[in-house]
Amino acid sequence: MAPFIYRCTECHQSYSREQVRYLCPACGKSYRPGIPLTGVLEAVFDYDTIRSEFDTNCPDWNLFCAVEPEFHPPLAVGNTPLTKAGKLGAELGLTNLWVKNDGLNPSGSLKDRASFLVVAEATRLGERRIVAASTGNAASALAAVCASTDREALIFVPEKAPKAKLVQMVLYGARVIPVKGTYDDAFRLSLEYTEKRGGLNRNTAYHPLTIEGKKTAGLEIWVQLGFQVPDAILVSVGDGVILAGLHKAFLDLQRAGLIERLPKLICVQAETSDAIHNYIQTGHYADAANPTTRADSISVCCPSNAHWAHRAVLETGGCSVLVSDTEILEAQAQMARTTGIFGEPAAATAAAGLVKLQQSPHCLPADACVVILATGHGLKDVETPLSRVSIPAAIEPRLEAVEA
Ligand SMILES: *Cc1c(COP(=O)(O)O)cnc(C)c1O
Ligand SMILES: [Zn+2]
Repeated sequence: MAPFIYRCTECHQSYSREQVRYLCPACGKSYRPGIPLTGVLEAVFDYDTIRSEFDTNCPDWNLFCAVEPEFHPPLAVGNTPLTKAGKLGAELGLTNLWVKNDGLNPSGSLKDRASFLVVAEATRLGERRIVAASTGNAASALAAVCASTDREALIFVPEKAPKAKLVQMVLYGARVIPVKGTYDDAFRLSLEYTEKRGGLNRNTAYHPLTIEGKKTAGLEIWVQLGFQVPDAILVSVGDGVILAGLHKAFLDLQRAGLIERLPKLICVQAETSDAIHNYIQTGHYADAANPTTRADSISVCCPSNAHWAHRAVLETGGCSVLVSDTEILEAQAQMARTTGIFGEPAAATAAAGLVKLQQSPHCLPADACVVILATGHGLKDVETPLSRVSIPAAIEPRLEAVEA
């Protein structure tokens, strides 16, 4: 592991890892529920150490990892495949399109990456209980990773989370508390719980290692493309932590002298859950008025990492797109049919963003290297696409019936 400190993304004050746990003690004070988090911390490594010790022939990824390997949970997370999407690319006018299939993580979403690192940190700190609020996937991820260790997960979820996700977290043995209200209500309650009752809080962006965990998807994309930086990566965005994590991945590689440029990060949000999109377009932050999207994993009124997500898009020369629920479900089917990758609606949102961008001519050059980050598995929510799928009627088990 390369040594690191935490630096506040707002006032740039530095802290040792023993001095702080969640937000910058100075800037975090102005945080109150109902606004994006203030004083989100960034892990800043000793990049000279990485530069001198990292060898692409035999890469030691622990150099980029903020928790020592001896504390890592046994559950294998990450290292998901990057698949060339020739057929989908042909439909969208792109010759070098890829899908990073993060639905193949143990609990079926990219959230396993963040949970893995926070559970490692809890083990290092000797914290037995880890608490999270989640739209569903972060909770299933935390429950799964905890199940592989002797830590326990306490989870607050909105009562309307999809059944498959609720079943997962209960089966993994977590204590699950469905909350009447939205994800934002569950988020508030979990912060109050850890403040007053203890445990380590895993809430997204609130714990800085959620960003570090999610960054591993970006590091892997670089390796899997043969140590090349793609031209663009499309991400579906809820709280903006995956987006920030990708930004951090490529910043780390750049600071370590391993790459020269950053990929354009393209933020894709659902029309009704558009707080970060509007922030990027206008420069002013406002909550999403009424996030009703069927892509439950990105249904967020007040994204906790809005400020960093905004910066990630601007600093990489990326852009932002909105898609409707219909466009999301069409892209879900298109991606499944052309790549063999069935993503949940929130995962297909990134693909829907690409479809939309390619409708305006020359948005991305035909030979651009483009990656769709597919963040969660389609089997996590079969109810939503069911309305658009017609399952053929059963036939008599006779050959003539097949031919008819
Ligand atoms: C959480 C999640 C996202 C969005 O990630 P944020 O960090 O909240 O922006 C996208 N897709 C899936 C499947 C998710 O679970
Ligand atoms: Zn600060």
